[in-house]
Amino acid sequence: MDEMQAISAARKLLKEQAVTQAPINVDALALTLGFKVSRKDLPEGEAGITFERRGQKHIFVNQNDGLHRQRFTILHEIAHHVLELPSVHGSSVPSDELECFKSRPPEEVLCDTFAAECLVPWLLIQPFATQSDFTHENLTVLSDFFQASRSCVASRFAQVSNDHLAFIVAEEGIVQYAITSRGLREAKIWITKMIHIPRNSAAAKAMELASGQVMTADLDGLDWSASENASRFVCYEEATYYALKKQTQSIVLFEEIVKTSSGTKRESRSEDDDLLEELSGYPGWSKYR
Ligand SMILES: [Zn+2]
Repeated sequence: MDEMQAISAARKLLKEQAVTQAPINVDALALTLGFKVSRKDLPEGEAGITFERRGQKHIFVNQNDGLHRQRFTILHEIAHHVLELPSVHGSSVPSDELECFKSRPPEEVLCDTFAAECLVPWLLIQPFATQSDFTHENLTVLSDFFQASRSCVASRFAQVSNDHLAFIVAEEGIVQYAITSRGLREAKIWITKMIHIPRNSAAAKAMELASGQVMTADLDGLDWSASENASRFVCYEEATYYALKKQTQSIVLFEEIVKTSSGTKRESRSEDDDLLEELSGYPGWSKYR
């Protein structure tokens, strides 16, 4: 079982159940697979439990968790069933593991992949990824729309985008997870996992200040990627820090540098843009204003 198989199993399930609208009805989906979902007061740190009693399959979800988390937990449990992957965590899901990328067994990551594909279906995120900008602000809107966590929505957005962008999650300053867009992969730009986040990155700033505020940074392509082609790009990054997991989440937009006879300048900038930029204080990303 690999990532693509987990994704296609999720798509197949949504198609069979004729799911075409967000937010998807997770409880109904569970029911069609024979699971009865109940919200319970589970011990802290326990996201959910799956078990069978008198021939009935049950999923208990911790009602003290946020709504987005509850939805993800249910789909994660469904994934074990649909993908026929035995759960490494036994019948109960520890909440500090879900959607966390550090030292997770591969089958658990595949179940998360399945859950994310169901919560934020390709067919529904695709139009947003084409028409809207990859910003923290827009991700908040999409998170409400899909009733899914920001990291789940951000990963899905990056996966389907044709622009040059990446979503990077680091824990304790080490890159755990990076989703690069198709555009970036076509430009042969990769983000290496298990390396330190760049010292001058927004993620490093956010971690240092340990605040939930959105930090920004302008960087060189080579700061975030060791790929040779990254030298042709500059980056704009927005990052946030989640103290609980010591986790940073970065939205990184790559913009190709175009060499002109008078020197080097960014592709989409004009003299007017430069003037406006001084006034607005926004970075010079024409599409991402
Ligand atoms: Zn699991």
